[in-house]
Amino acid sequence: MRLLIATHNRGKLIEYQEMLADLPLELVTLDDVDIRDDVAETGATFAENARVKAVEYARRSGLLTLADDSGLEVDALGGEPGVRSKRYAGENKSDPQRIAFLLDKLRASPRDQRAARFRCAIAIASPRGEVRECDGACEGVIEFAPRGTNGFGYDPVFLFPERGLTMAELSSKEKNRISHRARATEGAREILKELVLQ
Ligand code: IMP
Repeated sequence: MRLLIATHNRGKLIEYQEMLADLPLELVTLDDVDIRDDVAETGATFAENARVKAVEYARRSGLLTLADDSGLEVDALGGEPGVRSKRYAGENKSDPQRIAFLLDKLRASPRDQRAARFRCAIAIASPRGEVRECDGACEGVIEFAPRGTNGFGYDPVFLFPERGLTMAELSSKEKNRISHRARATEGAREILKELVLQ
């Protein structure tokens, strides 16, 4: 069965391919099914954005669709950037620009005030509009300078304290065991098993 992963982000697709490799699913992206117009992510929560995207892309594609919405919450910034993680530094900025913007906001914050977490909400929708949801989080600390070249987004400044390494210094295999997306995907795998293997 084909499962639409509602993203244009190849990094995310690769992570899902690794994490759902044991299920009999062919993963395709929005580009693979020629959907170019993005659904606006205007929700107040990750869960709301994931749900709206999953339902709309499932309707447009006629495929079972998994949408996620994820981002970074920094305690010293009152939970920012949150649902605005992608647009935090402005529209169409690069990952290094987003990181520089974040580090600048935190320049006065010492290490013990740099607690943060990545969150991921996943919604899985059928073309008929049935929706199932799950989520996951991963606690960490924002570093003072980027380190590592793996992953994407804020990974180079997100320290995973248990390993003393940033997410971008972990192998993709390790990130895919402990990340917010990995934890949310554990729930998604159970939902998909029910839907696909029934
Ligand atoms: P979205 O879920 O594609 O809307 O992601 C929003 C933004 O959150 C991304 O552009 C990244 O900046 C950030 N983000 C989400 N997941 C990750 C991750 O696994 N590592 C680093 N940054 C992430």
